[in-house]
Amino acid sequence: MPTAPWMVHNGAIVRYEDCRLHAFAGVVKYGCAVFEGLRAYWNERQAQLRVFRMAEHLERLAFGARVLRLEGGPEPAELERGVLAMLRANALRETCHIRLIVYLDGDGELAARGPVGWVAGAVPRGSSRFVAEGMRMKVVSWARITDAAMPARVKATGNYLNNRAAELEALGDGYDGAILLDARGEVSEASGACLMLVREGRLVTPAVTSDILESITRATLVELARSELGLEVVERPVDRSELYAAREILACGSGWEVVPVISVDRLPVGDGRPGPITRALQEAYFATVRGERPERMGWLTPVYPG
Ligand code: PMP
Repeated sequence: MPTAPWMVHNGAIVRYEDCRLHAFAGVVKYGCAVFEGLRAYWNERQAQLRVFRMAEHLERLAFGARVLRLEGGPEPAELERGVLAMLRANALRETCHIRLIVYLDGDGELAARGPVGWVAGAVPRGSSRFVAEGMRMKVVSWARITDAAMPARVKATGNYLNNRAAELEALGDGYDGAILLDARGEVSEASGACLMLVREGRLVTPAVTSDILESITRATLVELARSELGLEVVERPVDRSELYAAREILACGSGWEVVPVISVDRLPVGDGRPGPITRALQEAYFATVRGERPERMGWLTPVYPG
């Protein structure tokens, strides 16, 4: 599905075709930008579109811009206004994926800190088939970027050459998705999602020191697992062979949502079908994002009045 016709560029609502920047902009020359992928969920019964955990996404974006030393960029409130205006301009009444990018503009050299531009657009997109069917994953030969070389917890555009290489390898080898180990050989994350394993009835997830992106969906599931499912959640280093020992595995991210992992390196996870804890977490997650949990409405920003 293509990007919706109206985008927001440096605060102005513009047509997709008119959303342009110079080919020598810093983001093109050096891959210097930070971005977010957010989702807005349409609730048909309530006739409302709501952005999930917008404040947390804007906070991570601001953190990333600070680490990349981007100066003079937009304030979170300006980004929030712009994204909501863009969604309204498209009159979207369906679930969509929003791409928000804060980038190095201008024609400066490598250490330029500005000028900074920003852009956002939305792609109408429901859940992938993997949410229902599960995904067959491969531990790829590429290691996850190490925080000693690139800021792994920053959602920086340039970092994604690593994720792309991983995904190309997995898809090229006939799998649905990639799992990356960190430079120490421990499990890090998937190409666009974090990982959680079920071991002895507990939820285990690689710690934030395993070169993961500090995922908002991961934090959401940790909270829902503890409060709604009464599960114990452990954040710690995870060995590769634990992927083969786990009863269940899931991948989670704003775009991916909650995806059961049904095999790793062709070894079935559990009995090779999505497991009960994964299904329960999916149920809790989708109810939450659709605005069906009154106690979690603080995580949702309505797009339309009323
Ligand atoms: N890891 C990577 C590499 C990602 O690209 C994403 C998607 N943003 C995630 C994890 C999940 O992060 P979030 O839940 O904040 O979307």
